[in-house]
Amino acid sequence: MSTYVTANPTTGETEREFTSLTDGDIPQVVARTVTAYEHWRAVPADQRADALRRTADLYEERADELARMITTEMGKPLAQAAGEVQLAADIYRWYADHGPELLAVETLDPQGATESIVQKRPVGPLVGVMPWNYPYYQVARFAAPNLLAGNTIILKHASICAASSALMAEILHSAGVPEDAYVNVYASSDQVASLIENPAIQGVSLTGSEAAGAAVAQVASRNLKKSVLELGGSDPFVLLDTDDMARTAHVAATARLSNAGQACNSPKRFIVLEELYDDFVGKLVAEFEKTAVGDPTDSGTKVGPLSSVDARDAVAEQVRTAVAQGARLETGGSPVDRAGAFLEPTVLTGITPDMDAYSEEIFGPVGMVYKVSSVDDAVRLANDVGFGLSGSVWSTDAAKAQEVADRLEVGMAYVNEHGTTLPGLPFGGVKRSGYGRELGRWGLGEFVNTRLRRTS
Ligand code: NDP
Repeated sequence: MSTYVTANPTTGETEREFTSLTDGDIPQVVARTVTAYEHWRAVPADQRADALRRTADLYEERADELARMITTEMGKPLAQAAGEVQLAADIYRWYADHGPELLAVETLDPQGATESIVQKRPVGPLVGVMPWNYPYYQVARFAAPNLLAGNTIILKHASICAASSALMAEILHSAGVPEDAYVNVYASSDQVASLIENPAIQGVSLTGSEAAGAAVAQVASRNLKKSVLELGGSDPFVLLDTDDMARTAHVAATARLSNAGQACNSPKRFIVLEELYDDFVGKLVAEFEKTAVGDPTDSGTKVGPLSSVDARDAVAEQVRTAVAQGARLETGGSPVDRAGAFLEPTVLTGITPDMDAYSEEIFGPVGMVYKVSSVDDAVRLANDVGFGLSGSVWSTDAAKAQEVADRLEVGMAYVNEHGTTLPGLPFGGVKRSGYGRELGRWGLGEFVNTRLRRTS
């Protein structure tokens, strides 16, 4: 039997061990969620919504405990952890408030005595595989719509988040979600595959790396199960003009360094017209250098450790490789000289298409700045990666920026902001960033049976 071992990335010390599933447990776990599904799907949608509303209330009541737990597990500064807890609460509440109406029966094209209606029915037990970077938010955007729809869930969280995943299950259960309608498991990748293969499981949603997404999607498609994938990104931040460069650089740095840069939709590539380039780089470097790196429980800290020493070393290696291949290190680049998984905020310039950094995602506090001579070049560069999650365009002329934003090959295009996530807005990407959508009515639509009933 394997175990999940959690470590505090601020100190490097081991925190706790958790006993994993055995292979023999799998049929029983699935059977529990099947039985729970028969009950849960029959509970009126308003009552399922009540359980989500109570979940939101409990997230708010227990916000401090929840925030501290992920700060310990994955190193997010406490204020950012508190913001994530509130976002998760908002998502549960949004689905409680809007979900029942979105699930209501639609009548189509009424003609005489003939009636065509569309019902939105649950599909059954689902598997969720979630990452450590936003432990509560990632689960909320999968669990809230699907529990509301009447599906049941087996949730395999990142091994880094073993304690917070148990706490999420406890909160859902005390809010009124039956124990077997949401089952938290500590499972290996092979066990996730066995769960997906089980005939009772109707689909899987994964947020994480391309490798994990490809592995899960392969098992799902072999078994004719639907999958939703939210994978990586290397989002462009296209700067056309500004009347306040200091503020633009500050906003850019804050967005890139939030969560120590470990966000799929962080602006990883700053694409700047040449007349603004020197000013932007200078101010961005100054912002990165003055950003407080340190213990994430200190209120002044803006950048904590990365999620693990291995993750930090992998990002530092990407930076070293970029420099060895000819990129210019404007600031940072080194592990911080202290215990834990800290990396200096880093700015790279001079990246060319032949370098690995041009096409890779860098999942850490690293900004890459590109100089372009025209708007067309900016768009070409923005789209010249395999990812297509989100992107932003910045200008004092919103109409001009919208035109450019409309040319980005992404699932989410922003003008004069980057990465705003709200419960009612769709979230997801194109290309290697994955497929399917989360949040809003789109997230609720992924795992429902949109079912016709026609009567003559
Ligand atoms: P992973 O993709 O490995 O982890 C995400 C989740 O998938 C975890 O629950 C993990 O479990 C699980 N998992 C991993 N491999 C498999 C598999 N073969 N079958 C089933 N489940 C699997 O992310 P990492 O933590 O390794 O981070 C690596 C990279 O992934 C990052 O550098 C970043 O590029 C990307 N990433 C993107 C995220 C996003 O928000 N889109 C979030 C996190 C990472 P376990 O923890 O037990 O390995």
